[in-house]
Amino acid sequence: MGRPTLARMHYLERTQWLPREDLNRRQMASLSRLLWHAHDNVPYYRRTFSDAGVAPSDIRCPDDIRRLPLLTRAEVRESLAERKSTAPPFATIQKTTSGSTGTPITIAYDEESEHWRQGVKWRGYGWAHFRPGDRVMHYWGPPQMRPPFPKWAKIQVDRMMRRERYVDCVAQDEANLARTVETIRRFKPTVIIAYSQAGGNLARYVNATQSRDWDTIPVICTAEQLYPHDRVEIENAFGPSVYDSYGGRETMLLAMECDAHDGLHISVENILLEVLVTEADGRKRPAQPGETGEVVVTDLHNFGAPLIRYANGDLAKVMPDEQCKCGRVLPRLKSVEGRKADTLIDGFGGQVHGMLFPVLMLPLARAVRQYQAVQHKDRSITLRIVPSPNFDDGSRRFIMESLRRTVRGVPIALHLVDEIPASASGKRRPVIVET
Ligand SMILES: [Zn+2]
Repeated sequence: MGRPTLARMHYLERTQWLPREDLNRRQMASLSRLLWHAHDNVPYYRRTFSDAGVAPSDIRCPDDIRRLPLLTRAEVRESLAERKSTAPPFATIQKTTSGSTGTPITIAYDEESEHWRQGVKWRGYGWAHFRPGDRVMHYWGPPQMRPPFPKWAKIQVDRMMRRERYVDCVAQDEANLARTVETIRRFKPTVIIAYSQAGGNLARYVNATQSRDWDTIPVICTAEQLYPHDRVEIENAFGPSVYDSYGGRETMLLAMECDAHDGLHISVENILLEVLVTEADGRKRPAQPGETGEVVVTDLHNFGAPLIRYANGDLAKVMPDEQCKCGRVLPRLKSVEGRKADTLIDGFGGQVHGMLFPVLMLPLARAVRQYQAVQHKDRSITLRIVPSPNFDDGSRRFIMESLRRTVRGVPIALHLVDEIPASASGKRRPVIVET
């Protein structure tokens, strides 16, 4: 871990215990700095402020930020060049996310923002007793979508140095599940980080086959909604230390469960997180505790290509504003919804995790505007893609070859379309399994 990340982590270790007023004051100071910077140096936001008839000085408390418009995923897609700062710090890091809604986007940020992201991540993982240098098993995306050889080899070495093991969680047939159990026995991870529902499936296998011969291994669940039934299975398979986390490639760790296992603490030092409910007249207001609302994120330390009021497509519930049993005053989310990926079945009856598609679309963010995969009752798959001008034969070949390798033995059809309609709830599901 680099020194700047370590410094942020130590700062965050302290701020999590501060009184709420002190935290709020610091958050508002960060927000003001960001808004002034965006107004002065970012063409997109200069126009946004002007169109809204608002100056940064008009925003005196976090609630005032509602005077600025929301930034949709489609707008994030289209506006990247214009959202880059024309003054330092510049956006030197670029990342693609396929998200939970089937609209791949590219986001950019500066190095300082990266240090904050890493600091927030390590503080949160620390709540799950995971320290840098511990042996960690990632139960994650498929290997064939990893970078090509030279870079991949380097990453492989780095990972061994960092004592990380990556296990593909997409193929979940019996042979693969048995292999994963063997990996756990041999590698003896200190902690497991798993896609929530894939972790649930693995745990079900461990319990059904009575394979557990290890003590408690903390499991950090990520990328998908953690369902109560999956949590119970994971607790049985790996012990009671199950930690839900809420993150995304856009802003890293947004919220994380602590030892009290009662909601997820929001990383308020790095983000301003709103949960909004839309009234009948179309106006939006903050959700009351227990109400489900849409998540809106402002990335407080990303000056390189600011994300202000980004509606990321997730839904969440907030908790009453009370101190957690752990003693931290960081506000909490009760749960996060809308990150479910269905499980597909291949031609041989093996399970294939639905996160396959978001992972597959990662390298194609410039070529694919939106996608939706449907597995029909006869197991055949229809993949609909709204292409960008960059979509070409190579993109098509990459998709088809990857799918044929991963979802073996089923017919796959790829259709280019102009539009993928949203469901009645307004949410676009990227993967649908018809039953
Ligand atoms: Zn807590």
